[in-house]
Amino acid sequence: MLNLVLFGPPGAGKGTQAEFLISTYHLNHLSTGEILRNEISRQTSLGNQAKKYIDKGELVPDSVVICMIRQKMESTPEAKGFIFDGFPRTVDQAVALDKLLIKQGAPLKGMLSLEVEEQELIDRLLKRGLISGRSDDQDLSIIKNRIEVYNQKTAPLIRYYSDQGKYYSINGMGNIEDIADRLIKAVDTLQ
Ligand code: AMP
Repeated sequence: MLNLVLFGPPGAGKGTQAEFLISTYHLNHLSTGEILRNEISRQTSLGNQAKKYIDKGELVPDSVVICMIRQKMESTPEAKGFIFDGFPRTVDQAVALDKLLIKQGAPLKGMLSLEVEEQELIDRLLKRGLISGRSDDQDLSIIKNRIEVYNQKTAPLIRYYSDQGKYYSINGMGNIEDIADRLIKAVDTLQ
C-alpha cells in the first residue's frame, strides 16, 4: 500500500496535484475539505456543524475529521493506498492517522509538502473563489485567517514528520505540470 500525505497551506495546489498522483499511482483520494463540503451541500447535521467553522476559516474539531477519515478508510478496504489531502491539519490528527495506518499494516510512506509564497497563495485563492463559488475563497479576511490557522496549528506538522524522516519539501511555484513532475519524482524515490 502506498499512503501519502499531500501537505501545504490553503491555495498550495493540493487538490490539483492530487489528481496527477491519483492517475499515476491509482490511489484513493481522501480530501477532508471535499468530504465536508459534500456534507454541507446535503445539509446533514455534520455538514451544518462544520459550516460554522469553515465559514470563519477555522478548523473543524479533530474528533469530527478523524472519525470521517476512519469511516472512509474502512469503507474502501480494497484501496491500493490513499492520498490524504488537507488531512492531517493538527498534531492530534497526525497521531490518529499514524495509529490508523499502523493498524492497517501500511504506515505512511511520506509527507509531500508544497511550498508556495504567501502572496501567491492569496492570489490563487481569490482567483479560485471566482470560479469555485466557495465563500471561504472569496473573502480576504477569511483567507488570511486560514493562512494564520495553517501557520499556528498545521505548520508544526513539518517538524512532526521530519522527526519521522518522512518530510519531503516540494517547490509548489510555477506551472502545474512542472510541479506534478517534481512530486512524481519524489514519490518514485519512496517506492
Ligand atoms: P480545504 O478544502 O482543505 O481547503 O478545507 C476547507 C475547510 O474545511 C478548512 O478551512 C477547514 O475549515 C475545514 N477542514 C478541512 N480539512 C480539515 C481538517 N483536516 N481539520 C479541520 N478542518 C478541516
